[in-house]
Amino acid sequence: MFGPYLIGKVLCDCGELADLDEEVILRKKLLGKSVECRACRNRRIAEELEIDNENSESSDNFYSDC
Ligand SMILES: [Zn+2]
Repeated sequence: MFGPYLIGKVLCDCGELADLDEEVILRKKLLGKSVECRACRNRRIAEELEIDNENSESSDNFYSDC
């Protein structure tokens, strides 16, 4: 078999084709978030860390799926 999850290909806003777990893609869609490639996500996570104190929205999911 192919493992416990499927890999989905999604087009990031920057034009990169990103390989992500379908679980991650579905989770992002449920949350109403755009799907990003790793480069964009890593950059956004770094930005979110800087504004973490003023933005109390939980971002735990973004740190646990690498
Ligand atoms: Zn991107």
